[in-house]
Amino acid sequence: NYLRHVESLAVLPSGAGKISHLNAVILGEALASEENDLVFPSEEFSRQALVPSPMKYMEMYRRSIEDPAGFWSEIASEFYWKQKWGTTVYSENLDVRKGPIKIEWFKGGITNICYNALDRNIEAGNGDKIAIYWEGNDLGQDGSLTYSSLLEKVCQLANYLKDIGVRKGDAVVIYLPMLMELPIAMLACARIGAIHSVVFAGFSADSLAQRIVDCKPKAVITCNAVRRGPKVIHLKDIVDDALAESAKSGVSVDVCLTYENQSAMNRHDTKWQKGRDIWWQDTIPEYPTTCEIEWVDAEDPLFLLYTSGSTGKPKGVLHTTGGYMIYTATTFKYAFDYKPPDIYWCTADCGWITGHSYVTYGPLLNGATVIVFEGVPSYPDPGRCWNIVDKYKVTLFYTAPTLVRSLMREGDEYVTRYSRKSLRVLGSVGEPINPSAWRWFFNIVGDSRCPISDTWWQTETGGFLITPLPGAWPQKPGSATFPFFGVQPVIVDEKGAEIEGECSGYLCIKSSWPGAFRTLYGDHERYETTYFKPFPGYYFSGDGCSRDKDGYHWLTGRVDDVINVSGHRIGTAEVESALVSHPQCAEAAVVGVEHEVKGQGIYAFVTLVDGVPYSEELRKSLTLAVRKQIGPFAAPDKIHWAPGLPKTRSGKIMRRILRKIASRQLDELGDTSTLADPNVVDQLIALSDC
Ligand code: ATP
Ligand code: MG
Repeated sequence: NYLRHVESLAVLPSGAGKISHLNAVILGEALASEENDLVFPSEEFSRQALVPSPMKYMEMYRRSIEDPAGFWSEIASEFYWKQKWGTTVYSENLDVRKGPIKIEWFKGGITNICYNALDRNIEAGNGDKIAIYWEGNDLGQDGSLTYSSLLEKVCQLANYLKDIGVRKGDAVVIYLPMLMELPIAMLACARIGAIHSVVFAGFSADSLAQRIVDCKPKAVITCNAVRRGPKVIHLKDIVDDALAESAKSGVSVDVCLTYENQSAMNRHDTKWQKGRDIWWQDTIPEYPTTCEIEWVDAEDPLFLLYTSGSTGKPKGVLHTTGGYMIYTATTFKYAFDYKPPDIYWCTADCGWITGHSYVTYGPLLNGATVIVFEGVPSYPDPGRCWNIVDKYKVTLFYTAPTLVRSLMREGDEYVTRYSRKSLRVLGSVGEPINPSAWRWFFNIVGDSRCPISDTWWQTETGGFLITPLPGAWPQKPGSATFPFFGVQPVIVDEKGAEIEGECSGYLCIKSSWPGAFRTLYGDHERYETTYFKPFPGYYFSGDGCSRDKDGYHWLTGRVDDVINVSGHRIGTAEVESALVSHPQCAEAAVVGVEHEVKGQGIYAFVTLVDGVPYSEELRKSLTLAVRKQIGPFAAPDKIHWAPGLPKTRSGKIMRRILRKIASRQLDELGDTSTLADPNVVDQLIALSDC
């Protein structure tokens, strides 16, 4: 049913004479069509794309839905399995009414993701290909590893971990910045069947301690310090505090392997606990450069990772090996139209799921060359990203809307002074990308040449669920477009009934996909309650979504953030995008507040382009922008000028905190441990009386 629906809606987007040739393999010239808002990939791009047309997409998508077992096992067969999976490719129960939720893919298959990412590519003749280019915080600081040398480093660490008693199924916490040692550590754990839990190296000692207590690791891997822009952060001190803290809860860790990050801090200045603390450089190079593989079942755990914490206390998401491997590799390949000569850069930190699936595993499984960047995009100036793009001739560039918006605010000149000719595909993840930011990204960064893959997914989903395939579809700025192969998104109403056609509601997924998470670590009940009980029979994403007449998907924000104004349900994304389209507005976040007449009123926080003062006149013109683009009912009741917005450490706006500020419930701010800069909250509170 769903398939027919997509087919009928999607194959022939309406209202576009220009795309009557959609059934041709080649799409038209790159152009942004004002009246129907479609942006076409160039003819040249489509011709060389892995999925060159809507027809090809439909053919593959149809197969993936009608025969998931066949579709995925064919892809899985391209990878190495020590032993093939059993007769059932997957089994699932996503319906709480039918018993416990259970998802299994390739059960009985014996494999290893590190083997598939490294050894397999080396055996295929790619040993001398660069696996990782490392770019340090400062200009001129860099390094690289070929696939062979990466494998050697991984093996040395893996041997060491085995030596200190880390066994299959044991946890290892990794608290490292974006050094090459971070993916090395992940892969070393995977090689010996240990479960890694990467904690973003910007988290406080308390947050780190919580995660250590939760998974009781055999070892913690860290470095002494890191430079982020001009600042030096003493990571080892944070780890020391966290380990002292977790010891109080009865979890003591015997080994703290510490990499000496010389450009940030000398080892002699590093506090040291003899017996527990070990210098990486003194120890690891002593170990052999080959290491036997621990073969694991497809359903053995690969890693544990916490969600970003945008909506509350972070959830410990558990991913297993086989399905995750196949899914990240396949989504990476198609969503970025990956070809072997590509140079790929994802700006996400490995502390987030994006860094797991699309810095480490997805790209390396494809034998790709990846850039790992230690620094920040604003240092030494806001042109750094394009400096890196030119330096390494990056072809695929994947980032987050927050970065796009912040660079947009700095002006085009930082971008246009670089060539960026190598770029081929751009990507976005983390939040809905406002159409105006999309256009800037497309027109200025990509010179109107590079399709944008606006990938919608979650820590829980392991990989992309809704994403454009560059070259296949005309794009609509701000829409994540269509489902990836094997994914059946449905939009349901409050009662959980599927709504067809043009509609808006709760975004759920019907049946599993290989990369789906299998549980919340140690709390299967919370897993079922959070994701499967709200709409029985479906996986519930927590996000709102609308589908337009052409079948394109538009993420409207978290459903908890939906604002109900006089009976109109308004997603945060729509109002924010209208505000951000105003040339003087850099960023916006809206929340609902109680309103006597309307039920809820709209309260908007806005940050302005540098140097623009907030004035009554500006307030009026911001309001007008919303009235014009959406309608008078969506006009904000209050606009609150904000020097900055509270964000998670992964860069997402935390609306739940803004809601409390707007309604002056200041003692109910909730879990703020994942907040990037707590000062922002105080500033906003101080300003909210203005
Ligand atoms: P928590 O679950 O702890 O509140 P989080 O949801 O922010 O944190 P992640 O798993 O990192 O943690 O983020 C997934 C969410 O990010 C999605 O549910 C969605 O709200 C948002 N998101 C990610 N990519 C996109 C996208 N391309 N378009 C719109 N929203 C996106
Ligand atoms: Mg979430």
